[in-house]
Amino acid sequence: MSLINEIIDKVKKRDPEQKEFHQAVEEVMYTLEPTIAKHPEFVKAKIYERIVEPDRVIMFRVPWVDDKGEVQVNRGFRVQFTNAIGPYKGGLRFHPSVNLGIIKFLGFEQIFKNSLTTLPMGGAKGGSDFDPKGKSDMEVMRFTQSFMRELFKYIGPDIDVPAGDIGVGGREIGFMFGYYKKIVNEHTGVLTGKALEYGGSLIRPEATGYGATYFAAEMLATRGKDLNGKVCAVSGSGNVAQYTVEKVSQLGGKVISLSDSDGTIIDEKGIDGDKLNFIMDLKNIRRGRIKEYADKYKVKYFNGLSVWDVLREQGIKVDVAFPSATQNEISGKNAENMAKTGCICVSEGANMPSSPDAIKIYQDNNILYGPGKAANAGGVATSGLEMSQNSMRLSWSREEVDSRLKEIMKNIHKACLSASETYGKKGDYVMGANIAGFVKVAKAMLAGGIV
Ligand code: NDP
Repeated sequence: MSLINEIIDKVKKRDPEQKEFHQAVEEVMYTLEPTIAKHPEFVKAKIYERIVEPDRVIMFRVPWVDDKGEVQVNRGFRVQFTNAIGPYKGGLRFHPSVNLGIIKFLGFEQIFKNSLTTLPMGGAKGGSDFDPKGKSDMEVMRFTQSFMRELFKYIGPDIDVPAGDIGVGGREIGFMFGYYKKIVNEHTGVLTGKALEYGGSLIRPEATGYGATYFAAEMLATRGKDLNGKVCAVSGSGNVAQYTVEKVSQLGGKVISLSDSDGTIIDEKGIDGDKLNFIMDLKNIRRGRIKEYADKYKVKYFNGLSVWDVLREQGIKVDVAFPSATQNEISGKNAENMAKTGCICVSEGANMPSSPDAIKIYQDNNILYGPGKAANAGGVATSGLEMSQNSMRLSWSREEVDSRLKEIMKNIHKACLSASETYGKKGDYVMGANIAGFVKVAKAMLAGGIV
């Protein structure tokens, strides 16, 4: 059995229930195969075995009191994978589906993504099975305070710097930062995604969506194409989806879809400025459902279906796809339909939104495919810029942060292409992203000795 297969086998046997983690490890490990011959020193130091095992897993009880006075109990997680190249860094996800396997898959992906940004950030992820949907602001505050009451022991501006993810936006970061500050009595850059007034960075809210769009533009340019006039599908309607819609529209593309966990809307005329403002108000302020968009703008709503199911069932063609909701949202069947109807590019705003079958179909059909760890790295890269600004106690202008973000996405694209070429599969962004991200971390681990 090859070394890679042995490692995957061991990972599966050790934690048989962590399916998403297995999927992420398999996806990365198979593409690292060519590094084994080139770097016998990695094999000798057991870097491959070490990188799939987190530095530590922290799990804790999060008790809180709801508006009716009843005690609720959730579970909190922080998985610190590696700080080989910088302090642990990665978001917090609040969603009822959260479990250890999901946090480990996200933390593992984060190692390579953070390395790709070229900034000094290690890999981590955390969260809770708490569902912010339908909770009052006061309930969210009491929950986040209880969550931080435990988490604060393990984080710090030079130790571990969490940020947002699904279910964790400006409101949640605000409550957590406020409480950290209260109990630690320090105003430092311990979280990113903060509002401007208390240490946030301009462009951080926009960064993941803008970055995924810049990455798509870079991929399209390799074939002499751009986003102008392209029909685009975006899924989700949260932070990443909203700013993908904004940037795609600015670059001349037309976004025709959005979704939430209840269903999908299709607006063939395009989701433009005013309509996007409506979505932002609906999702960020009123916290309503996407169906309201269909009611207001008299467009079709598909209850219980994802964007990718709707495209398939309705035979709708898109040129470029930006999956921006959650993991495994695109099945093999959905990808087959996208290939058949002429989709030329997939740029992942979400983490691991394409199933392994879907990825194979993109590759077999020569679809430009930017995996999440490269395409959505703009978010954490700008978090890195927020950390720098916090350390320097100054703030850069919108233009400065945006131009750094654009440059970082260009460089990530270049690094992926160049690694894929060096290792014999030019244009394979999956292999390129994994290898380029891995080699830097592996060298840092090697330098650090057996720790
Ligand atoms: P938000 O919570 O702002 O939005 C998530 C969106 O996806 C919502 O529309 C939500 O619908 C939908 N969604 C969530 N879970 C599911 C599900 N199981 N099935 C169907 N729809 C679902 O999160 P973000 O926009 O921040 O994150 C979206 C994706 O981008 C995630 O994969 C995240 O890991 C990734 N990402 C985010 C970054 C960031 O900077 N925020 C950085 C890099 C990656 P509903 O409102 O009904 O729950």
